[in-house]
Amino acid sequence: MSGITCRFAPSPTGRLHLGHAYSALSAYDFTRANGGRFLLRIEDIDEGRSRAAFADAIFEDLQWLGIRWDAQPLFQSTRRTAYAQALETLRSLGAVYPCFCTRRDIAAAPSAPHGPDGPLYPGTCRHMAEADRERRMAAEAFAWRLDAQAAAVQTGPLSFTNLGRRVEVDPGRLGDVVIARKDAGTSYHLAATVDDAFQGVSDIVRGVDLLPSTHVHRTLQALLGLAAPDYHHHALIAGPDGERLAKRNGAEPLADLRAKGWTAADVRTELTRLAASRASADLA
Ligand code: GLU
Repeated sequence: MSGITCRFAPSPTGRLHLGHAYSALSAYDFTRANGGRFLLRIEDIDEGRSRAAFADAIFEDLQWLGIRWDAQPLFQSTRRTAYAQALETLRSLGAVYPCFCTRRDIAAAPSAPHGPDGPLYPGTCRHMAEADRERRMAAEAFAWRLDAQAAAVQTGPLSFTNLGRRVEVDPGRLGDVVIARKDAGTSYHLAATVDDAFQGVSDIVRGVDLLPSTHVHRTLQALLGLAAPDYHHHALIAGPDGERLAKRNGAEPLADLRAKGWTAADVRTELTRLAASRASADLA
């Protein structure tokens, strides 16, 4: 085995479809081609949306695809203490601040700048008198947000590698993004960054839709003193309508394809076809 360690990290909030299969197989094939270790992580921090039955279905789908993992899967719901400790470190560095805003407050703010996923947080709670902050923390629910500017001052210039190329970090790529949600005490960004380090992940293969998040993850790694993995963001598979495959546009679950008699080899053939049609659309 080489020194590399990779992972697939699905959220058990629905059934896997061809888009997930593409991501999982890309990560798995990369790992095996490099003689590395392949790990599975179940990202179940969202208690309202995660279901044990979906996690079981993920294991079944991945096994059917021929994917095998080299350690027990890690469930993020068991890792809350580690996330709380990391958040405490970020607080002590002054890299996060409490935010009391509701979605409605943010939507109504006059000058919300735009990011890849819509309006960025306008910074309403960034500068608040300490006494107000303490009073509200005692009385209201709040999230913790990254103070992207303060973080940048702390870390100095950063970069990461994506597909072998250096990318300069823009710590504000997602603005003052939520690091610990009001309802969950952590966020995808914090939990994934802490766990990639905990699991010794050296190479992260995932969709290019998460490239903006990597700017945040690299910033958190620097603040928390964690090693930086190499990234390999792959293009996304599109459906027949040219839109990326996703639950919301009705991508067919792998279990349904299996019930129709598809094999894992059929999935690979279909993914190759979809990737080729994407490539020719790019050239057109
Ligand atoms: N749970 C995330 C997702 O399903 C994982 C993203 C990642 O690979 O970092 O999108």
